[in-house]
Amino acid sequence: MKLGIYGGTFGPVHLGHIRAAHAFLDACALDRLYILPTAIPPHKAASQADTPEDRLQMLKLAFSEPAYADERIVISDYEQTRGGKSYTVLTLEHFSNESQDITMLCGTDMFLTLERWYRGDDILRMAKICCLCRDDDPAAIRAIGDAAQHYRAAYGTPVYLPAFDPLVISSTEIRARIARGETTDGLLSPTVREYIDAHGLYRA
Ligand code: ATP
Repeated sequence: MKLGIYGGTFGPVHLGHIRAAHAFLDACALDRLYILPTAIPPHKAASQADTPEDRLQMLKLAFSEPAYADERIVISDYEQTRGGKSYTVLTLEHFSNESQDITMLCGTDMFLTLERWYRGDDILRMAKICCLCRDDDPAAIRAIGDAAQHYRAAYGTPVYLPAFDPLVISSTEIRARIARGETTDGLLSPTVREYIDAHGLYRA
């Protein structure tokens, strides 16, 4: 059983995340992909504009849409129900009861800082890492290559850097657009936008 783990804040989930999840499924030929919204992200101030339950519901809505659904994808509330900070190493330990073959998905920003995460060395020994480069900046691409080489040499971590055509967008940008009353067409799944409007999320 090849398990994939994709964690993040997802406040809100956007089409860049969805494209990354599908690329990850295909590139690593996963049997199951757990997508886990954090409870309290260890590295971010908690947003006042949504709740963990909102972020979980928006993920469920997005990945239920026929265009984005895949039977291998499971939206998991594990990190939210465990409580406390969402330390990735604890999530890996939990899912290693299900399979020892775990690959973790990281965007560029996460990948470059992995070693400094809580028990980062254990993460790099326990999991394979798939990094999808979310921007086309040559300096970032070089930094990813260097970090991959370092992780392989220092920890023996299998690192995959599949070709990926990213949608260059962030949740931060989407929250700002919503606060300014701008469209999010082509950036959010329509059901997620409906949820945001119905619950008054991310307004200024
Ligand atoms: P924020 O702007 O609030 O920091 P974000 O858009 O970066 O949010 P996160 O929830 O922090 O989204 O991201 C979860 C994971 O998805 C991280 O590994 C991140 O690098 C990755 N990711 C985010 N946006 C994209 C994107 N457009 N393309 C590919 N990967 C992405």
